[in-house]
Amino acid sequence: MARFIFITGGVVSSLGKGLASAALGALLQARGYSVRLRKLDPYLNVDPGTMSPYEHGEVFVTDDGAETDLDLGHYERFTGVSARKTDSISSGRIYSNVLERERRGDYLGKTIQVIPHVTNEIKDFIAIGEDEVDFMLCEIGGTVGDIEGLPFFEAIRQFSHERPRGQCVFMHLTLLPWIKASGELKTKPTQHSVKELRSIGIAPDILVCRSEGPIPQKEREKLALFCNVRPDSVIAAQDLKSIYEAPLAYHREGMDQAVLDAFGIAPAPKPNLDRWLDVADRVNNPEGEVTVAIVGKYTQLEDAYKSIAEALTHGGMANRVKVKVRWVDAEIFDSEDPTPHLEGLHAILVPGGFGERGTEGKIKAAQYAREHNVPYLGICLGMQMAVIEAARNAAGLADAGSEEFDLELGKKRFTPVVYHLKEWVQGNAKVERSRDDDKGGTMRLGAYDAVLKDGSRVAAAYGSTQIEERHRHRYEVDVKYREALENAGLCFSGMSPDGKLPEIVEWKDHPWFIGVQFHPELKSKPFEPHPLFKDFIRAAMENSRLV
Ligand code: GLN
Repeated sequence: MARFIFITGGVVSSLGKGLASAALGALLQARGYSVRLRKLDPYLNVDPGTMSPYEHGEVFVTDDGAETDLDLGHYERFTGVSARKTDSISSGRIYSNVLERERRGDYLGKTIQVIPHVTNEIKDFIAIGEDEVDFMLCEIGGTVGDIEGLPFFEAIRQFSHERPRGQCVFMHLTLLPWIKASGELKTKPTQHSVKELRSIGIAPDILVCRSEGPIPQKEREKLALFCNVRPDSVIAAQDLKSIYEAPLAYHREGMDQAVLDAFGIAPAPKPNLDRWLDVADRVNNPEGEVTVAIVGKYTQLEDAYKSIAEALTHGGMANRVKVKVRWVDAEIFDSEDPTPHLEGLHAILVPGGFGERGTEGKIKAAQYAREHNVPYLGICLGMQMAVIEAARNAAGLADAGSEEFDLELGKKRFTPVVYHLKEWVQGNAKVERSRDDDKGGTMRLGAYDAVLKDGSRVAAAYGSTQIEERHRHRYEVDVKYREALENAGLCFSGMSPDGKLPEIVEWKDHPWFIGVQFHPELKSKPFEPHPLFKDFIRAAMENSRLV
């Protein structure tokens, strides 16, 4: 049976709770334990799938097709454990489950209340698959004191109370602000936050305190005394140069030891940190640098492309170079020539996206990359735009476009080289969609197989002709244009196993130009960089004459 670690936050949001949870997961693995990480989000959206990236950052897609919080990306990148649908839940999903059951009559006429019905639903969720792992880490989104988070806090309180003593541990993340004028590190906000937590029945066992510098012994003891934790359970979380130093930094601070102590596990198994020592060495000692342009729409908020930025870093680590990202707003190219913005950059990446805004700019970026022999990686919409560019400028289909944009505007303007996908095969089953479907959860989502062409650039990069990658899209390149595009030199080097859905395209006479319909960035890890990102960065190095 699993032991449970609940991770909560206080004082302010954005303290890196997801990262702390992920790093703790990695440290427990380093001591030989199996882990699963889970995120409980208090917002009322059923899932983040329909939320704007500006609101919520990137949507992370799991193999089993769930659209989840970006923290699940951190969990996977640090532990390598593939997240599942059941590892991400929101108040919206909880309530919609409860209301569905109420309509079905499952509650036998009872009055439905937050306690016990909503809290029971949350507790059932927390316990899913508990027999499979040694530790289940559950992160509660938001901060203690938020009205909407209360049912979650109440549920974890009940959960730990109902379980045998010693099966649950609470870790609370707070901020120790540094007051410059008086030169002091302030513990009061943390004291208040813990007081708030205790007032709802939760006593934290471990405090993780974000601070700019180290925490002096005096403050540590004060926190321990006022917050009722042991001094060695006050863990300092200082700002780091790279997130991938977090496991080692937390280990030095004694986080994993404090957790094992809180569970009474003695003697604690010795950790093997080789993986993280190698990762830190690669991050800290690059032997060169390349700059990659990301030509996208949400360039104001880097969290919108979190996994892509991380996967690029991993590609750099595999090649021992630092990857710098130049964020370029695709809309600039609506009115301006891309050359001055892209000239001299070593590679161009066009990420996924939705809606027409900025797409003509992305098409121009693809054209620039093709004509100037700059390595290009197009992901999902970035592949679709590369295909449209090829159709327009190389295959003579001047009005090629995507049905997505015509449908958005309610006006037919384009030859739909990219069309609305209405049926496909998943495993042995046929999936059908129509234009009137709900927006949420109806895309082609999750892991699908693809078959790669022997001798292609992608087959060489993967070292295989059978792959499985994660998808999140509603539109698809129409295979009926394959011949015309292949005649123009754009090779369809990856297809769905039934040969109906183009998965990968690449220009034959180009140093490195690849478009993929899926999201390779979601599966990349610092200790296992994705083969496409590794090869892409290699191509950027060749372009920069680093090799
Ligand atoms: N909007 C496009 C589609 O739905 C691309 C989606 C994406 O880039 N994730 O097919």
